[in-house]
Amino acid sequence: MPPPPHKFCGQCGAPLKRRVPSGEDREREVCPVCNFVHYRNPIPVVGCVAEHEGRILLCRRAIDPRLGYWTVPAGFMELNETLGEAALRETREEACAEVRLGELFSIVDLPRGGQVHFFFRGELLDGKCAAGPESLEVGLFAPGEIPFEEIAFQSGIIALRRYLDAESKGLSLDAVPLRPPN
Ligand SMILES: [Zn+2]
Repeated sequence: MPPPPHKFCGQCGAPLKRRVPSGEDREREVCPVCNFVHYRNPIPVVGCVAEHEGRILLCRRAIDPRLGYWTVPAGFMELNETLGEAALRETREEACAEVRLGELFSIVDLPRGGQVHFFFRGELLDGKCAAGPESLEVGLFAPGEIPFEEIAFQSGIIALRRYLDAESKGLSLDAVPLRPPN
């Protein structure tokens, strides 16, 4: 689910009203005092399928949601960073690992959740990884050892399967087009 709408104006503190702003086609939270329109938009989530000597880096989550489940390093994009920088940062934060970033190869739209998930390929620079504050443990998994039934999020499962499918066929992962076909 997307985060709930704001109740109070971020500019002046007045309670917000839901109405269609002039010139627009849908209801939004609008301040009746200062007229500020509180737009809500999808949030980008960025992850990295990072490999070292044929094994894939996974982190076991120390935080909700899905505490205790495994995930590829991933998280919300920050202001003032690019998609690639977000992938590098999340991999550093969650797995204490430095990677050389490869292709952006998987995009998963979650329209009802208000998110879009982007996944890059990466290679560990030196093979080193360790649990960051948001991880209980990290590990490098051979393709046949990946605990798919314990992966936290569907978008991560999709990215891992796309990655392994390309690897098993000896295909290079193509970067996704900017507008993926439906
Ligand atoms: Zn206001």
